[in-house]
Amino acid sequence: MKYRIASIKGDGIGPEIVTQAQKVLNSVGEKYGHEFEFVELLMGGCSIDVNGVPLTEETIETAKSCDAVLMGSIGGDTRTSPWYKLEPSKRPEAGLLGIRKALKLFANLRPAYLYPELKEACPLKEEVAAKGFDMMMMRELTGGLYFGERYTKEIDGVMTAVDTLTYNENEIRRIAIKAFDIAMKRRKKVTLVDKANVLDSSRLWRKVTEEVAADYPEVEFLVMLVDNCAMQLVKDPAQFDVVLTENMFGDILSDEASMITGSIGMLPSASLNETKFGLYEPSGGSAPDIAGKNIANPIATILSAAMMLRYSFDLDREADAIEEAVKKVLREGYRTIDIAKSGEPQVKCDEMGDLIAARI
Ligand code: NAD
Repeated sequence: MKYRIASIKGDGIGPEIVTQAQKVLNSVGEKYGHEFEFVELLMGGCSIDVNGVPLTEETIETAKSCDAVLMGSIGGDTRTSPWYKLEPSKRPEAGLLGIRKALKLFANLRPAYLYPELKEACPLKEEVAAKGFDMMMMRELTGGLYFGERYTKEIDGVMTAVDTLTYNENEIRRIAIKAFDIAMKRRKKVTLVDKANVLDSSRLWRKVTEEVAADYPEVEFLVMLVDNCAMQLVKDPAQFDVVLTENMFGDILSDEASMITGSIGMLPSASLNETKFGLYEPSGGSAPDIAGKNIANPIATILSAAMMLRYSFDLDREADAIEEAVKKVLREGYRTIDIAKSGEPQVKCDEMGDLIAARI
């Protein structure tokens, strides 16, 4: 099969890490008989430099015409880069928000997996880390408190701020279906995280998700209150498979789940819309402090490419091959600077890409 992939390398370490992911995809293509065409697009600071804006209509339209988007990261040093002297709507991050909106990406997926070889980076108790964990945090991205009506005004002589949290059943159902579909590709367990003892919106999440669960008899469905989930993530993360939750709870819990893996350079992510289309990117930023030095860890981006194969193209065997190749290089002891313990030999960004590509 032939796939057209919009490649948004972006700023900072973006070009270095996306190039490695492309290398690995080409290796997958050779082995399994696929062709991946990369359509290079500008977004973020590099687009400001060329086009005067962080995102153009042309970039949006071209991205839409592709089968998926593979992204590096955008933005520069927020204290020193001239991009941050521009008004907020012209800054690099506005490009990212703009493309997410234009592509109608409503489901954010962030796997949190503890590699046995990197257990020492895990900040949890040794006996907890020893059990390992492998979960998929699924966060609703376009509704809830961050998008509700808000205002601050004086009411009865007292300054009062109001934020509103709104979800309708359609917004909940579409992401719940995705969560159960994804669970079917994993260990077949979905935990809905909410605050149904207090919030009406959470009670609607429970009702609609229960209805969706009825269509997936093979998948175990559990509910958990958000405060309990925050505790369980540090006490017993091995219990989770797919964790489904609304926007703000997901914002906080997905960072907590990332933190317990101990390494930002290892964490991929995906944002999906109602079709198979998705935008795949590492969880970290553009790391201006190490940009251009060929020392960034490309694994998060390479694993984002694996997610693209699995969730947009249904190429599960090929995605497995990438994930296995990553595990293999770690088992063999290769480390980039961010995951190397003191005294351990380090490989450069492009060497890590070569090592993984060679093990496909
Ligand atoms: P960051 O994630 O870029 O960097 C935080 C730390 O992690 C740095 O020390 C960096 O060197 C390290 N790091 C990150 N990715 C790494 C990798 N692959 N390999 C090795 N080390 C890695 O976060 P920041 O410094 O807060 O932000 C820098 C810029 O990135 C800002 O302009 C910010 O707006 C932008 N940003 C972009 C995205 C995105 O494109 N989705 C996400 C977050 C931040």
